Amino acid sequence: MKVLPPNLSESRFRAALDELASIVGNAYVLASEDALTEYADPFVPGPREQRFAASAAVLPSSVDEIREVLRVARAYALPLWPVSTGRNFAYGGAAPRLTGSVVLDLKRMNRVLEVNETLAYALVEPGVTYFDLYAHLRERGSKLWIDPAAAGWGSVVGNALERGFGYTPYGDHAAMQCGMEVVLANGDVIRTGMGGIEIGRAWQLYKPGFGPSYDAMFMQSNFGIVTKLGIALMPRPASYLLAHARFREEADLVAIVEALRPFKLDETIRNHAVIEGAIRFAAGISSRSQWYHGSGPMPDGAVAAMAKQLGIGWWNLRFGLYGAPEVVEAQYAIVRRALLRVRGAEIDAARYSGDQEPAAGGDRNMAGIPTMAAFRMLDWRGGNGAHVDFSPICPFTGGDAMRQYLVAKTRAAEYGFDYYGGFTAGTRHLHHIMAIIFNRDDALESDAAEDLLRVLMSDARAEGYGEYRAHLAYMDFAAAQYDFNDGALLRFSETIKDALDPQGILAPGKSGIWPRMWRSRRGYT
Ligand code: ADP
Repeated sequence: MKVLPPNLSESRFRAALDELASIVGNAYVLASEDALTEYADPFVPGPREQRFAASAAVLPSSVDEIREVLRVARAYALPLWPVSTGRNFAYGGAAPRLTGSVVLDLKRMNRVLEVNETLAYALVEPGVTYFDLYAHLRERGSKLWIDPAAAGWGSVVGNALERGFGYTPYGDHAAMQCGMEVVLANGDVIRTGMGGIEIGRAWQLYKPGFGPSYDAMFMQSNFGIVTKLGIALMPRPASYLLAHARFREEADLVAIVEALRPFKLDETIRNHAVIEGAIRFAAGISSRSQWYHGSGPMPDGAVAAMAKQLGIGWWNLRFGLYGAPEVVEAQYAIVRRALLRVRGAEIDAARYSGDQEPAAGGDRNMAGIPTMAAFRMLDWRGGNGAHVDFSPICPFTGGDAMRQYLVAKTRAAEYGFDYYGGFTAGTRHLHHIMAIIFNRDDALESDAAEDLLRVLMSDARAEGYGEYRAHLAYMDFAAAQYDFNDGALLRFSETIKDALDPQGILAPGKSGIWPRMWRSRRGYT
């Protein structure tokens, strides 16, 4: 046994594992080094040895088994780290924040419990992936679309709980979620919103219910184990159009953001339009070595030459329009006219009927089809590619976007990295995502990646921006940046945590929230 849970002797731990095995079966308690490699974070930057290592994994198959597992965890003060499918790549994978935690892997609970074709939603268990839900709908001839995250192998539940996003009009997964079943640390099972009514006819239809509303409380938190989750599905549109606009100059970012905002605010563009830098776009269709061989970041001249040769822009805006063909055409004409006001801009579009599927990966995501195309990025620099993401929220103005972009690009260059980023458009904000791609076999590069992310987060905080999501190694750092009134928000979260989970067994340290018994571990990796 390589790693033990903190504060537990090997014999006590073995006794706990025996009890867990008697609940879920021997085959579903994993403790060998080999089996646990699946639960290690493949992308952890910086020194790796034992950081965020799990001591074991347990795979229950039902809510009743989860409740039994919790009983054992409480008795032994055994920290559990729940994951749905554990694909949370770039943010920690399936690995726990507190080294020695036992991963509670819910992938065996993988039933699509309900699809309602009339009211357009699904109710799923944590182990259901985007590929699964997509196949389920297509096999049954459903006319509903899903909205996959960038990597289709992830869990519908896991991604919604992390407030992930996709690229159709239903791309805001946390907003599209409606109704949950949650097992609390004490074993109690609650259903949120209208699910509080025993026969719950509107559980997936109206999130608030009556009285306080709790769904959001179980997102990016450690307050419970989500065992069922409702998600809205988009009725297949009669047609859709996928547009790609190209802009030549770096400075065009300001004008692009300003041109896009009114269309997001008035809902002409309903999907998560994406403004991608040339390098990120190029990584989908080529490798860095085709364009640049020097050390350090790619110089601007090389980026411009690459963009020219590939026929892409310094900035590339991709968006979709969905609906009746005449409406889509009218919307396209309006948006096109506005975007072409940016000097040197070009735009083209591909048109599809609702049941047609685009061929290319990124475009398939905008049509609700799960893919794994996003992983191509890891080949950009060659070597054993990994990434961590800088992901600050950016106000939807050209000035803010430019400010964040320039800081990110300059800092990345200082540490030897390219600006591999872009902006995903919400309504009043942008998710600015910059991937720091490093070779995980190169210790220096891996350390530099870790340092760069910390510096970027500090730069952002100094300007009043904050992260929407953070890798395990930065959860405390990110949480500490939300420091209004001497960290009142985190104190509030920890008050709730201690009330719900006095033994501190559920995901200690998740999002910087530490239960009383593990609070001394804050900041410690
Ligand atoms: P995905 O595989 O879709 O990327 P994960 O299963 O890795 O998602 O989940 C991402 C994170 O969300 C986990 O690390 C965990 O903190 C939280 N999480 C996932 N599923 C659950 C769940 N069912 N209950 C509570 N928290 C969860």
